Amino acid sequence: MRMSNQFSRTLREAPASADSIGYAFLLRCGFIEQLGAGVFTLLPLGLRSIRKIEHIIRDEMNAIGGQEMLMPVVNPADIWKETGRYYSIDKELSRFKDRVGRDMVLAMTHEECVSDVARYQIDSYKQLPQLVYQIQTKWRDDPRPRAGLIRVREFTMKDSYSFDRNQEGLELQYNRHYKAYFTIFNRCGLPTIAVGSDSGMMGGKVAHEYMYLSPIGEDTLITCSNCDYTANRQVATFVKEYYPEDEKKMEKVHTPNCKTIEELASFLDIPSHKTAKALFMMGTFVDEKSGEEENKLIVGVIRGDMEIEENKLQHASKANALRVAHVDEIQAMKMAPGYGSPIGADPSIIVVVDDSVAKSNNLVAGANVDEYHLINTNFPRDYKAIVSDIASATKGNICVNCGHPLNVSKGIEVGNIFQLGTRYSDALGVTYQDEQGVRQPVIMGSYGIGVGRLLACLAEEYHDEHGLKLPITTSPYQVHFVSLMKESDTTDAIYKQLTDEGIEVLYDDRKESAGVKFADADLIGLPIRITLGQRGFKEGTIELKLRSDLSTTHTIAIDSVVSEVKKHIKEQMDQLKG
Ligand SMILES: [Zn+2]
Repeated sequence: MRMSNQFSRTLREAPASADSIGYAFLLRCGFIEQLGAGVFTLLPLGLRSIRKIEHIIRDEMNAIGGQEMLMPVVNPADIWKETGRYYSIDKELSRFKDRVGRDMVLAMTHEECVSDVARYQIDSYKQLPQLVYQIQTKWRDDPRPRAGLIRVREFTMKDSYSFDRNQEGLELQYNRHYKAYFTIFNRCGLPTIAVGSDSGMMGGKVAHEYMYLSPIGEDTLITCSNCDYTANRQVATFVKEYYPEDEKKMEKVHTPNCKTIEELASFLDIPSHKTAKALFMMGTFVDEKSGEEENKLIVGVIRGDMEIEENKLQHASKANALRVAHVDEIQAMKMAPGYGSPIGADPSIIVVVDDSVAKSNNLVAGANVDEYHLINTNFPRDYKAIVSDIASATKGNICVNCGHPLNVSKGIEVGNIFQLGTRYSDALGVTYQDEQGVRQPVIMGSYGIGVGRLLACLAEEYHDEHGLKLPITTSPYQVHFVSLMKESDTTDAIYKQLTDEGIEVLYDDRKESAGVKFADADLIGLPIRITLGQRGFKEGTIELKLRSDLSTTHTIAIDSVVSEVKKHIKEQMDQLKG
């Protein structure tokens, strides 16, 4: 590619809207341009990187038996109504009507669509197992798009779907994806870890997320300082300590100005683990058949030395969505914010207690009267509740596997894998006939990789103060060829020689100063740079530098430029074999 013909331009400064360093460089290099909130155009350079990532993904999906297909972005709403997600997913799912008034949706994922396809295509046990995938546009109307391609509304995903006769088959395909994803990320050069995760709106039980650790990440990860335990905080568990004693008589005590656990523990001179605190949330419950919504107050109760993980509370209460309850909503149920507890709660309230509370004795809890608490409350003696682990793991908690302390870090999710089971095959009737002629539900798995987000993470990982330095497997071109010659005959010939050999070259043939050309070469940051100037030309030499080490200049004979460049390409490719 001749830079004199390049469609996009480079920017000396990042626009003020760039809220992450990788995003700023993708804008400055002319990889992407924003059209609207969470909506981006991939410019030629960016698209080349994306195509390379897609190529790696295709390779590895084909290697585990995947067959590529392409499903539509626009789906009739009927299939989403059949699974109930038309009703249970909030505004992130965009709904509209076609010209005859039929309900339609923009697909944010394709479990419904692929299940509809599979119920027509799969008939016999002889056709199983199957694995199909696509690399396709999705739309998710995210309320808070940010950080360029990290969190967008329109995006490209590789999504694959497995179909099996039984759980063993599913686990085999799941494990193949588990390994293939690491190969994909390694070939792209992106360091990731797999963490146990929540299956969220996907349903199913077992799930992993692939996380790129980054301070700009929105996911909180819990990792063990000693063993390989890793989990998203949404599902992470830890060892809770207990201090058993005999149950005592419950009593009401005056506790003025004790709205926080610290104030209460200090006033009563007790440790915080002798208290129970309540979190009031408003839960939305949706009937998946009719779409009817209902709001109910949820009270989560946890021991005073821990915090509640809202995701766990949502699961335990089976709510579709949670938000913090307003003071008037709490008071309407005759409970006192700051002095609230589930004791004496209206039966319509959903009470969930953490097992730390259920297994502790004589805790101090709110009396539902301002400035009063109850001492010696005991579950289940004094109130009824759903018991579940709803505690939020934090730094210093103890690992359930090995007893060592846990750490906390931030990550960006670049991929996920789910064991769906029969969640969708039951809803949409995806069945096969077994050897006895009996129809059985197909067992499904679902597996995603965000393609644009992967590029965004690479930009976060690979840059310095001058610009990007993407790995050779995902950089738009392999070689940046800077010409400082007045005449172009020689450099044109070298450019032709390189491209004839299949080498991907960005050729700076512009009438610009050396300073401008080098600044752009640093900014776009292709892995191998060759420079031909007047003096080198006279001596028959050309300069070669690697973007990873700009301080070292290799002087090579012009005659050997193809073989030298090829040698460096091979060296760098070999390091990223996965
Ligand atoms: Zn551990």
